[in-house]
Amino acid sequence: MGAQAHVSKGKYKTVIGAIGDREKFITLPWEAFAGVEKSVPILKPFKLVSREFKSEDSVIKVGSVNIGGNHFTVMAGPCAVETDQQIISTAKLIKKEGASILRGGAFKPRTSPYSFQGLGVPGLKMLAAAREETGLPIVTEVMDSRDVEVVAEFADIMQIGARNMQNFLLLKEIGLQKKPILLKRGFSNTVEELLMAAEYIVSSGNPNVILCERGIRTFETFTRNTLDLSAIPSVHSLSHLPIVVDPSHATGKSELIESLSLAALAAGADGILVEVHPKPDEAWCDGPQSIDFNRFAHLMRQLKSLVSSLGKELG
Ligand code: PEP
Ligand code: MN
Repeated sequence: MGAQAHVSKGKYKTVIGAIGDREKFITLPWEAFAGVEKSVPILKPFKLVSREFKSEDSVIKVGSVNIGGNHFTVMAGPCAVETDQQIISTAKLIKKEGASILRGGAFKPRTSPYSFQGLGVPGLKMLAAAREETGLPIVTEVMDSRDVEVVAEFADIMQIGARNMQNFLLLKEIGLQKKPILLKRGFSNTVEELLMAAEYIVSSGNPNVILCERGIRTFETFTRNTLDLSAIPSVHSLSHLPIVVDPSHATGKSELIESLSLAALAAGADGILVEVHPKPDEAWCDGPQSIDFNRFAHLMRQLKSLVSSLGKELG
């Protein structure tokens, strides 16, 4: 009937999403067909990512790491990759403390054109060396359609930053990839807009999307952004996709990271993405919001005890 079919095989049932002209479908007696239990019209502007489409939580797998469901996954590392030594020492430390994914930007979206723009491909290679050394999968940002191929070659998870959340051509492009995508909420975007951006990726063929709440702009200037904790249960009620919280960009202040990470976990977040640097005072980018190794170790101890008291497990 000219519809696009998206098949999702769950543990207990198979859901076939038919995207097309509603008027054409509505007249057919779907439930009369053998093998059809139920037909559900989804009128929301996002469909494949909605809870109506899939009631179970999606669990995104990256190697042996799980994101979503009953897992709490810690992704940590510097804002930007700077040197081999910086990224490898950070990777080793976060692994030792129980984090499961290494973050680090090689292509950096900077507000000023005069700020450090990231090392580019050499930075990707440093990340790959840190993965080699520690076994940690890596998440790194892709800013431009022209870089998708090279970033996909190195990254285990490709990040779409807040500023690109509504770069629809880029979303369609990465939707053609198989690698999981970490999609950050734009700082002036609603939860529904975030889900529509995710729908662009999933409808282009890539179902492996992890959402990220990283703070939104409000009148408050004491913090860099305002962490919207309510986005976590809101996303969980509207969508089956996992959502992690970035307390670093949400606050801009290293001393606030621990409280908000714990709050995110308590509110049901599926993980955190946190900036860690061996020497935050010397960081090339986002030092004031980066925590050092001692603070990270303390944060992990706190998280672990809350993770187990909530009956969850580290991802
Ligand atoms: C980042 O994670 O490095 C980053 C630039 O974040 P955001 O896109 O949320 O500002
Ligand atoms: Mn940063």
